[in-house]
Amino acid sequence: MTDTGAPTLWRMLREAAVQTCALVAPRQCPCGREDTRLCPHCTALLESEPCRVESCCDALQELSAARVRDEVHGDLMLPAGVDHTPLLPVLALGEYGGDLQRLILAWKNGGMLHLGARIAPALSPAVARLAGDADGALPFLVPVPSQRSARLRRGEDHTAELVRAMERSGAGRALLLRAQPTTAQEGQGARQRRNRQILLRGRAARQAGLRAAPVVIVDDVVTTGSTLRGMHQALTAAGMQVLGAVVVASARVPTEPRTAGERTG
Ligand SMILES: [Zn+2]
Repeated sequence: MTDTGAPTLWRMLREAAVQTCALVAPRQCPCGREDTRLCPHCTALLESEPCRVESCCDALQELSAARVRDEVHGDLMLPAGVDHTPLLPVLALGEYGGDLQRLILAWKNGGMLHLGARIAPALSPAVARLAGDADGALPFLVPVPSQRSARLRRGEDHTAELVRAMERSGAGRALLLRAQPTTAQEGQGARQRRNRQILLRGRAARQAGLRAAPVVIVDDVVTTGSTLRGMHQALTAAGMQVLGAVVVASARVPTEPRTAGERTG
C-alpha cells in the first residue's frame, strides 16, 4: 500500500457520497431497464470474451515490409503489397455501440460511477491474457491520462478510478503516473495527430522505468489508437515493458478473428 491517509479518506468520503446518491436516485440500468443497476443483458456484455482489436486501429499500424512484386520464400508466396504489424496488442470487451456504448457513457459522463466496480473485474481476463503472453507476473496497470478539462468537467478521473478498482479485483498493481497529453494544435496534420505526444513526469515513472516494469495500458474506448500509441511511446522511452492495452470498447472490431502481424495490405 502506497496510499497516504488523506487521499484514502477523500476516496472513502466520495464513495460514501456516490452510494448516498445511488440510494435516492431511481435504479435504472444504462440501457433503460428499470429496477436494476445493471441488467442481465448488460452484465453479459461485460462478461464477453475479450477480442483483439489492434488490427482495426489505424494509428497503431507499423509498415513492416513492402514488395513491388510477388515473392516466394520456400513454400510461402508473398503477394506484392505492404505488410503492417500492429505496435502492441489491444484487447476490448466489444464494439463501441448500442448498450455497451450506453453503459460506458453512463459511467463516464452520466454520474453512474458505481459501474466502474462492474467494469473493472470484467477487464481482468484481458489483463491476464496479456500478462500470460509475457511471464505471468502481476503487471502494473497504467491509465491513460485524462485531459484536465475533462477531469474538471466530470469532477473525477474515471480511468484512474477504474485502474484502482482493477487493482482491488486482483488484476494487477495500479501505477498512476503524472502524464500530460500535449493538446492538439489547430490545423495540425494527420501525421502529428497520429503521433500524439504524452509527457511522463515524476519519480514513479522514473522508478518503474529503472525496474523495466511490465505494464498494461488501460483506457475506456479506443478509436484510431493514437493515444495508445503516445502512451506506448512514453512508457517505452521511460524504460517500461509495455505488454499491451486493455480497453472497454473499440470503435471497430475485426469482422473475423485475426492474429497479430497478419497481412493487411
Ligand atoms: Zn441493461
